Amino acid sequence: MDHFLYRDGALHAENVPIAEIASAVGTPFYVYSTATLLRHFKLFDEALDWGPHLVCYAMKAASNQAILKTLAEAGAGMDVVSEGEYRRAKAAGVPGEKIVFSGVGKTEGEIRTALTGGIRQFNVESEPEMEVISAVATQLGLIAPITIRVNPDVDAKTHAKIATGKSENKFGIPISRARDVYAQAARLPGLKVVGIDVHIGSQLTDLEPFELAYTKVAELTEALRADGHEITRLDLGGGLGIPYARSNEAPPLPTDYGAVIQRTVGHLGCEIEIEPGRLIAGNAGILVTKVIYVKSGEGRNFLILDAAMNDLIRPAMYDAWHDIVPVVEPAPGSDLAQYDVVGPVCESGDTFAKGRMMPALGAGDLVAFRSAGAYGAVMSSEYNTRPLIPEVLVHDDQFAVIRARPTFDEMIDRDTIPSWL
Ligand SMILES: *Cc1c(COP(=O)(O)O)cnc(C)c1O
Repeated sequence: MDHFLYRDGALHAENVPIAEIASAVGTPFYVYSTATLLRHFKLFDEALDWGPHLVCYAMKAASNQAILKTLAEAGAGMDVVSEGEYRRAKAAGVPGEKIVFSGVGKTEGEIRTALTGGIRQFNVESEPEMEVISAVATQLGLIAPITIRVNPDVDAKTHAKIATGKSENKFGIPISRARDVYAQAARLPGLKVVGIDVHIGSQLTDLEPFELAYTKVAELTEALRADGHEITRLDLGGGLGIPYARSNEAPPLPTDYGAVIQRTVGHLGCEIEIEPGRLIAGNAGILVTKVIYVKSGEGRNFLILDAAMNDLIRPAMYDAWHDIVPVVEPAPGSDLAQYDVVGPVCESGDTFAKGRMMPALGAGDLVAFRSAGAYGAVMSSEYNTRPLIPEVLVHDDQFAVIRARPTFDEMIDRDTIPSWL
């Protein structure tokens, strides 16, 4: 359940009518629900209640500081993948000891910043990276806690662009070489091995790939312990999928996911970390946009919106489906029409949906893209010199703009003209 429901004929975010936000901030905009964010975090937290654990929100899914602070105050740690994310998490008040640093190419500068600012652990992705972390830590006279990300060669059965756990993917070290790499880690100064890390992909709708991967992690834990390593922490990544279409079968619940974790690695006595992103933020946000024109083409009608691919890239990038609903609740039995739903950007890829059956709409009507909270605002751009759209956070009957729409001047004035012009 999320907190975007029709009440008295109008779509609400918790107890705020969407139309009221639209009049205050203009369209398009993203709006997030505090109650939904917290509910999703708590589902994961409770699913791991059987042992010591930390839910580290993968903040790349939606990284506004207001979202981070909401989750951090509920007890979440953060999974960051860049210095910018690390600094953003710190700025939102997350302490270094609750931040894990993932990402396939951490630079010396990023490693230095995290080590000096405090870090729970680095999830190491390669041997050369491990050597750099060791060198930077030694220079600083500090010890870097690390896990090594293993690639279990498991098919996550998800979209190719978000599968990360097959041997052909760039992530982690092959699990078959793990014992050698851990032996090397033990020889390097400045490192403290604390555990193992794995993350096999995103938008997984089946628990079996997790089960396979975590079973391999359990076997590896025993092998590494036999080799003399102290393995006290298992970071099991993120990736649990969400229902993008209400009509589809729902993916597994966090509770069932937690049970898989308990069954596969629960006996090892390790502290468990997980890094969910999409499941926490995805259904906690919607994108609200206005119909600019309805254009009748040959045999098709185009619904032209004021949101475009630069605001929400998922349909263009991952062929993603988003339910699109009118903000005014359609009367039961009202007429349906078939639309190609598009934005104003000068690319055919700027198409959100083709041949979508929807209640008949006209210019000026508001519509909402559901399940747009994760990998939405964070992937937006100013393509076509379109300003980044605002983000709004709702809490019960209050709302606040948590990222304002820049003015055209603010956007344009970022360019600087060289002296020879
Ligand atoms: C992207 C990512 C996540 C989060 O994935 P979701 O599918 O959003 O849960 C977690 N861990 C790592 C290392 C990632 O790259």
